[in-house]
Amino acid sequence: MKVLKFGGTSVGSVDSLLNVKKIVESCDEQVIVAVSALGGVTNQLIAMSDMAQNHDDAWQPVLESVKHRHLDIIDAVVIEELKPQCRQVIEQFIDNNLRSYYGTLMVNDDLDEVVVAQLRDAIVAHGEIMSSAIVSCMIVDATPHFSPRFIKTRDIEGERRLDWEATETLVKQEFSDSTERRIVVQGFIADDVETGQKTNLGRGGSDYTGAILAAILDASSLEIWTDVDGFMTADPRKDPTATVIPEMTYEQAQEMCDAGAKVIYPPTIAPVAGKGIPVWVKNTFNPDAPGTVIK
Ligand code: ASP
Ligand code: MG
Repeated sequence: MKVLKFGGTSVGSVDSLLNVKKIVESCDEQVIVAVSALGGVTNQLIAMSDMAQNHDDAWQPVLESVKHRHLDIIDAVVIEELKPQCRQVIEQFIDNNLRSYYGTLMVNDDLDEVVVAQLRDAIVAHGEIMSSAIVSCMIVDATPHFSPRFIKTRDIEGERRLDWEATETLVKQEFSDSTERRIVVQGFIADDVETGQKTNLGRGGSDYTGAILAAILDASSLEIWTDVDGFMTADPRKDPTATVIPEMTYEQAQEMCDAGAKVIYPPTIAPVAGKGIPVWVKNTFNPDAPGTVIK
C-alpha cells in the first residue's frame, strides 16, 4: 500500500485534476489518496470568516464564487453518473453549512471566544471536505473515508498537537483490514479527541496527514504530489541555474524544511523517517520527471 498526497494546485484546476486521476488510476497497489483544499480556497474560507466577523457581507459573493468553482470542476471531471450526487453534496456544504456559519459570525457580537474559534475551525475544514468529495467522485473505484474519524488532536497547555496514540489505534481500526483499492481522505483536518470538535494540523498540514497514515500503516512509500519538480538546489525564481536534488536523507530534508523550503510541511518528515518509508516529491504537472526521493 502507498499513500499519495495531492496539494492545492494539484486539485485546483480541471487539467491538474485529470492528471491526478491518471496518476492514481495507474497505481497497481492499494492507495490512500490524501487531498488538500482546491488551491486558494483555505485562504478564502479564512478571509470570509474575517469579513463576517467584521459585519462585512462581502463574504457572500466570495462564497458564491467558491461554490461555482467547485461546481464547474465537477462538471468537467466527475464520473457522469456521480455528477448529480456530487453537485448536491457541494451545494449542501456551501448553502447549508458555510452560509449559516458565516451568518452566525456576522450577526452575533457577543459570541464566546471559544465558540468563534470552533466555528472558524468548522469553516476551514470545508476546503478539504469539498475537494475530497470531488476527488472521490472522479477516481474510478474510489472509497471515501473521513479523516476526523481517525486523525485526532489534543490541546496540551493551549497548544494543539496530534494525539499519536489515539490516532494510531483509530487509523489501524479504519484501514488495517481494508481491501478497498483506492481510498480518498481529507488532508489537514482532524477532530479534538476530547470534545469531538473539528480541528486541523496547521496550515500546510495535509502533508502531515499523508505521513501519519503512511507511518501507521507501514506504507511502501509516501508520494507528495505538488507543483514543482522536487527539492531544488536554490530558489529557481532567484537562481536560474537551480536544479532538482534527486536524492536526500531525512536529515537533509528536515533541515531544508526547517530553514523554510516550502516544499514539505516540516512535521511531515519525522513519522516516515522513524519507519524508514521513502518519500517521493513529484510534480503533478510534470509526472514523468523523476522528482526527489527522501530516504
Ligand atoms: N488546505 C490547507 C492549507 O492551505 C492544508 C494544506 O493544503 O496542506 O493550509
Ligand atoms: Mg503544502
